[in-house]
Amino acid sequence: MEHARIHKPAPTQPPPHLLDYEATVAQFSWVQAAALLDGLPGGAGLNMAYEAVDRHVKHGRGHRTAIRWLGKNGERQSLSYTELARASNQFANALEGLGVLPGERVFVLMGRLPELYVAVLGALKARCVVSPLFSAFGPEPIVTRAEMGDARVLVTTPELYQRKVRDLRERLPGLKHVIVVGAVPADEPGVHPWGALVSAASTRYTMAPTDPESTALLHFTSGTTGRPKGVEHAHAAVLAHAVTGRYALDLHDGDVFWCTADPGWVTGTSYGILAPLVCGVTNVVVEAEFDAQTWYGVLQSERVTVWYTAPTAIRMMMKLGADALKGVDLSALRFMASVGEPLNPEAVVWGLEAFGLPFHDNWWQTETGGIMVSNYAAMDIKPGSMGKPLPGITAAVVRRLADGCLELIDAPDVDGELALKTPWPSMMRAYLHEDERYRKCFVDGWYLTGDLAHRDADGYYWFVGRADDVIKSSGHLIGPFEVESALMEHPAVAEAGVIGLPDPMAGEVVKAFVALKPGYEAGEPLRRELLGHARKRLGAAVAPKQIDFRDNLPKTRSGKIMRRLLKARELGLPEGDLSTLESDEKKGGST
Ligand code: AMP
Repeated sequence: MEHARIHKPAPTQPPPHLLDYEATVAQFSWVQAAALLDGLPGGAGLNMAYEAVDRHVKHGRGHRTAIRWLGKNGERQSLSYTELARASNQFANALEGLGVLPGERVFVLMGRLPELYVAVLGALKARCVVSPLFSAFGPEPIVTRAEMGDARVLVTTPELYQRKVRDLRERLPGLKHVIVVGAVPADEPGVHPWGALVSAASTRYTMAPTDPESTALLHFTSGTTGRPKGVEHAHAAVLAHAVTGRYALDLHDGDVFWCTADPGWVTGTSYGILAPLVCGVTNVVVEAEFDAQTWYGVLQSERVTVWYTAPTAIRMMMKLGADALKGVDLSALRFMASVGEPLNPEAVVWGLEAFGLPFHDNWWQTETGGIMVSNYAAMDIKPGSMGKPLPGITAAVVRRLADGCLELIDAPDVDGELALKTPWPSMMRAYLHEDERYRKCFVDGWYLTGDLAHRDADGYYWFVGRADDVIKSSGHLIGPFEVESALMEHPAVAEAGVIGLPDPMAGEVVKAFVALKPGYEAGEPLRRELLGHARKRLGAAVAPKQIDFRDNLPKTRSGKIMRRLLKARELGLPEGDLSTLESDEKKGGST
């Protein structure tokens, strides 16, 4: 199949780290790449926070700006690497002062405030496991995750604590300390003000030996069934952050980098905190939510050189048109990348028209811990393709056979499941409390990603779709089961089935089908009530945007709702294999 190409001009200044893809792949070894990092002094292991912050201080780069924070009301704050080292030391000391032990879990729930960055790095120094939560989640997803992860500490704001956690706190008996950035709500035992706690702590902290294989991060992601999956990453993952920061994002000394993702999602942690700091660049943090004009203002005023964003935002900017960029000084911008959902070919090309640069799509997921497939700065882009595997990563398109083995598909342009050869430093080490689920992801030495893809004759990978029912809406991965469970909590709901519908802006939107219990009347008032109920429980990012009533939902004989069939019927697509469909299932029945 012939695809359009965007040919790369001769290398610009600074020349890309990855100039010759084939040669780099041939030479690369993770063992040699480890020279990018120091390890803890005295051979005491490897700690993400040390590599991200203190290493730069040790090498005389402490004066450089680590974080440049832009508040939503126009405030600004800069933290040098030295200041960030001291502030995170204080937080590590504060945790120890509270008696928090290595391995215990510190959850962070807040908007993009400077304290979030300090808390993550300080908790890593104290060898706690950091679990970031998305602050736009509703109470249910937040408390479910904190409960699953047995949160010992929660770092949050008074407002988020009050609105999202307090009423459900009895579900978190292990939560001993809530550290709030702001005024402490009165009469709350175990609630500490950030300011007093941290300012009383020493700015010096000696990191204890850290096993590179010990757990550093716990990220929750969604599956098709059951509760969210808690994905565990080891301190060793920091090597993948260093390598991808150089090769996939082409970060150089002196760069001003901006990742627009929220740290509540894996991109916002791996690339909104760790990779830029490990690479020693200035990390721009913007507290405000998306607004095209604000974003253009940030690109200009901060002289952003490398920008990492997402397709939904790019599509929204496209809608506004390239004219909105007239007069914006983008002379500093050198490289633009995108992740999280399929990036339409038109969006890549639009980048050229509007910014004078193409967007470089890359692919990865919570489980991979870092970018795995990417379009590189010096490589031609085929718009619509995710690019080629990172040096050090072997990818393949595979088919699962009936005997449980894998068949590697060698032929180009044939769809199959995207698989990655194990291991690599940022590969997930476990699904929290779910060994069996974890084991099932690996076959014959390959990690199966759950994504469908094909590879073309030139070795570029193309995303085809998900192999499961998980929904991607505005870049957020949403588990249908979590949404169905929240709907089922409403007294009127007998059954719920949730699917993603294609949407030109958000990629997919969440749609629910609901069958009611006897005595309840389907109609606009109840639809509105259910939409409101789901929004309150789950938060706007996760709640369904549409609800339809059905007399009953299609189920397998074992009683599982056939979401695929709901989707096929909704979109007028072929219904596929119906052999497992419950025989008395009545078709249609929309109310
Ligand atoms: P998450 O674990 O939330 O980061 O979501 C990972 C999933 O997002 C992947 O398994 C893909 O389904 C999707 N995804 C991520 N990046 C891309 C991309 N560049 N193109 C298409 N889908 C993507």
